[in-house]
Parts: sequence; C-alpha cells; structure tokens
Amino acid sequence: MMLDAATLRVALALVDLTLLMLFYFITFRRTRSHYSGWWCMALLLFLVGNAAYLLDGTAHQGWAIPAGNVLLVAGAASIWAGGRSLRAPSLRPWQLAAGPAATAVASFIDHPATNVWAGGPVYLGFMAVLIGLGSRELFLLERDYSRVHRPLAVGAGILAVFYLGRLVAFLANGPDGAVFTSVFGSVPMTVFSTITLVVASFTMAELSYEQQTQDLRSRATVDGLTGLLNRSAFLDLAENELRRLRRTGTTASIILADLDHFKAINDQFGHSAGDSALQAFARACAGTVRSTDLVGRYGGEEFILLLPGVTPDRAREIAADISVRLHQSGSAVIPRLPTVSYGIASTGAGPGSLDAAVISADAALYQAKTLGRDRAELATGG
Ligand code: GH3
Ligand code: MG
Ligand code: MG
Repeated sequence: MMLDAATLRVALALVDLTLLMLFYFITFRRTRSHYSGWWCMALLLFLVGNAAYLLDGTAHQGWAIPAGNVLLVAGAASIWAGGRSLRAPSLRPWQLAAGPAATAVASFIDHPATNVWAGGPVYLGFMAVLIGLGSRELFLLERDYSRVHRPLAVGAGILAVFYLGRLVAFLANGPDGAVFTSVFGSVPMTVFSTITLVVASFTMAELSYEQQTQDLRSRATVDGLTGLLNRSAFLDLAENELRRLRRTGTTASIILADLDHFKAINDQFGHSAGDSALQAFARACAGTVRSTDLVGRYGGEEFILLLPGVTPDRAREIAADISVRLHQSGSAVIPRLPTVSYGIASTGAGPGSLDAAVISADAALYQAKTLGRDRAELATGG
C-alpha cells in the first residue's frame, strides 16, 4: 500500500499530539523549565501548522498555506528560543517574530489560493536558519552541561541541513523537480519529521530533568534574596581556594561586613525595605570586587568576602570602595542606606586558616562596632 501525503500528515499530527500531551503533563508541568515550555510551544505550532496543510486543495487553501508556513516557522523559532534559554538571556521579541512575519508576507503575495508552494523558498530558508540557530545554541553549551545536549545539537543540525537541501532543490528545479519530489517531497519529509519529533521529545525530557537537577543544586548554593553565595557554599569554595593558594604560597584577606543599626531600618521602614537594603549592599559588593573574589551572605545582615592575593591594607580600601558604591547607588525605597562596619583579617598559610581568619575578622568587626561603626578595622596581628 502506498501512503499518500495526507494520510501521513494525519499520522504525524497524531504522533505530535501524543508527544505534546506526554511532554506537557509529564515533563513541563513537573519541571516548569523554560526549555520544556519552548518545546511544548514548538510541538503545538508544528501540530496546528501541519493541520493547516490538510486544507491543501480546498477552498481554504488561500489562507491555510500561509498559515501553515508561518506556524511551522514560528515552531522553528521556538526551538531556537528553547536552545537559547539554556545558555544566555532570552531572545528579543523581534528576533522571534522576524521569520514568521517575513514568511507571512512572502506566502500571501505568492498566490496561495492556486499555488501550494506559495512562499516556499522563504519558508524553507527560515526553517533551515532557525533550526540551525537552535542547534548552534546547543553546541555553544559547555561540553559537560549535560549528557544529551550534544546529540540533540547534532539532530537539530541534521534537520537544518535537510531543510537547506530542500531549499537548494526547490531553487534549482522547482517543487516539481525530480530531486525535490523524491528526496525532499512531502512524504519523505513527513516521515523524517515524525522520527525527529519522537527522538527530540525523549531527549529533551532527559535534558529538562538534568536542567532541574542543576537548578536545585544552584538553589542550594545561592542565597535567594541577594543572589550571593550562601554561607555553606561560600565556606566550601573558600576552603578550596585557600588550598589552591597554599600551593603557591599566596595569602588572602577575609572581610566580614555587618550593616549598622539595621534593625532600626526594619523597624522604621518595614522588612521589605530592609530586604532591598541587603540587595543594594550585595550589588555594591559584587560591583566592586574582581570576578575571582568570593562574596557570600554569612547570615542576616552579615556578609563575607575572600580576596585572594590581597593584603589587609588593600582590603580596607576595597571595603571603603564598597561603602562608597553603596551610598552612590541610593535606594528607591529608603531615604538613606545604612552605613557598614567591616572586620578584616589575613588568612595564614596553614590548614584551618579559614576558621582562624573568620574568628579574627569577627573580633575586628566587633572592634569597628565599638569604635563607632561605619569603619573598617584590621585584626590585630593579621
Ligand atoms: P549593629 O549596628 O550593632 O549591627 O545593629 P543591628 O541593628 O544591625 O544588629 P542586630 O543584630 O541587632 O539586628 C540585625 C537585624 O537584621 C535583626 C534582623 O531582624 C534583621 N535581619 C536579618 N535578616 C534579615 C533579612 O533577611 N531581611 C531583613 N529585612 N532583615 C533581616
Ligand atoms: Mg549582625
Ligand atoms: Mg548589624
């Protein structure tokens, strides 16, 4: 039995619908990851887009062909957006809309009521480019990001090349050319698309779980309010860093910072104003130190910094810079941000030096508070 294109399209639509339901209810609802959201969107657009093509040869063809083209190109744009969501800030709306918009124009002006391949080259070109961009996003992820993103990148790359092949065959011989109909026509394309959707959905389910695990891991190390390292993550990373520095005989400075009269800010302006002051201080720290320094929230309104290769005197200047930056930043919520007291100690060379430095910095911080706050004190002998 020879299967015609319409029958295959219906089969593809059923597979697509099944995958969409499975993926939505099992993966997206559970993980809520951006990536799986974009994949659901792509499956939905492919489903509706392919359904529109079923109206080929009917009175509705004039709008159905452009609609199918636009929806499939929008699905390809969703694949790109999904890949991007793993790696970098989201795409801008115009980047997502450009392909579908251009495809809509090209399809509508190309006599879609009588021409089933209206806007064909533009549609094929955008499919190749957008799926290719999705593949590129996955390739740009670090090798150890997950176990599955490389195969997925290769799969998307093959699909992009396939669309490119269709475009070339279309431009060379037209939609009725031998190569286009035999290798790249609707029947092989539908079979190929079905296989791709199934494989990609299973791979992406795996990727979503890996992404979720990674998210949980990062939430376990990051302070939710300030985005800085939390106490235990800071101490773990600082221990590793000191072990590394010990091998090269380098010392480091520890700064303990405590916001002054912070309780009064909460009492006067409310707890959320206090929270915004903590966030402003975190930004001032992050904006002042080098990317190789470590900054953590030690607890409540206390913060801790590890500055490798920095002397206590230099650390005192850095503390002053943080306070200047904090007060320059200002706050929309409170009229005046709090001053800050700092205790500074140098880490010694031996094991256990981190604990000792934190104890010394704490004593220096107490000294700074006693001497009137809004100042940095160095630990005696450190
Ligand atoms: P000092 O200058 O001696 O450090 O005085 P202080 O008021 O800053 O110190 P104290 O330890 O008496 O008060 C710290 C306050 O910080 C009490 C607590 O309610 C508040 N705090 C701790 N964590 C948070 C937080 O996450 N958000 C807000 N808004 N306040 C917090
Ligand atoms: Mg305190
Ligand atoms: Mg305080």
